[in-house]
Amino acid sequence: MVPKDCTRCNNNGIVYHRAYSGEYLCRNCFLFSIEDKTKRCVNKYSMLRYQDKVAVAVSGGKDSLSLLYILNKIYGEKNYITIIAITIDEGIPGYRDESLEITKDFCSKIGIENRVLKFGDVFGINMDELLAKRPSEKISSCSFCGTFRRRALDLISESVGASVVATGHNLDDQLQTFLINILSGDVERIGWIYPEPVEYGEKNIRKIKPFVEIYEHELVFYALHRGIPFQAEECPHKNESIRTDIRTILNSLESNHPGIKYNAFNSAIKISKLLKMDTSGSLTKKICSLCGRDSSSSVCSVCKNLMILSGASPYNGQKSDLD
Ligand code: SF4
Ligand code: ZN
Repeated sequence: MVPKDCTRCNNNGIVYHRAYSGEYLCRNCFLFSIEDKTKRCVNKYSMLRYQDKVAVAVSGGKDSLSLLYILNKIYGEKNYITIIAITIDEGIPGYRDESLEITKDFCSKIGIENRVLKFGDVFGINMDELLAKRPSEKISSCSFCGTFRRRALDLISESVGASVVATGHNLDDQLQTFLINILSGDVERIGWIYPEPVEYGEKNIRKIKPFVEIYEHELVFYALHRGIPFQAEECPHKNESIRTDIRTILNSLESNHPGIKYNAFNSAIKISKLLKMDTSGSLTKKICSLCGRDSSSSVCSVCKNLMILSGASPYNGQKSDLD
């Protein structure tokens, strides 16, 4: 039977049922639970240090804007860290413009600087032009976009002097990535899923994901109840990735077996910890022979993609579908 009052405070009316824990929460206790989970995750994996300059990657979606809000509320407003919002404009017509506007307005409302970097400024090509040049539609848009976006984020973070880059990846994202790695045979990459930050590059920047222990649908609910505006429209290329199929399967499992995603995520974390320890040397020490940046092989994925697009390297059909 559904109780009338909140499981935590025994006081207010219920707005949310957390099926995997059995809790019934009022608005305040739900919002607090998300902020508290974020703080616990930051502490558990030693993600932040006093006086870090944190570049929060903000796309205009519910995850990244909620992350910006929560990190600012818990750490920024108390001057424990300084925060800057960084945004990548891939040049996806009819989609990115709205999110750029939402991000700009939200940042100005909470008093945080927002810097934007366009794909065209870094790679000399935007997503539209890039997709017209791809040699096969078997290479998903997300595969190019994800690779180039990570590089653009690295560059803009370095240019603003950040010590940390924070992204809004949630539990669902990480679990999907784990399964994509398994399905595509990229077992070595699983070590990167472990949430403890690794210092990389010449500037020793740390990448953190403070939402990795939070379900995606809880972040939607958080943003709605906190009054955080976000872009609801999805990228037109979203369904090209195998990620969408995996998301659908996992959500269907979760609705029949509440908590199954959380259990699977914990298994993924245990495996990623073992693999990180096993492969961290080879993962962090290689340098791309073309661009000189960190890479997991002798030529980084950005350079490989640029060579495929320019025709300098033939497409061999082996491209991973990671985004
Ligand atoms: Fe890029 Fe794919 Fe995300 Fe669209 S869905 S923004 S193409 S990674
Ligand atoms: Zn390279």
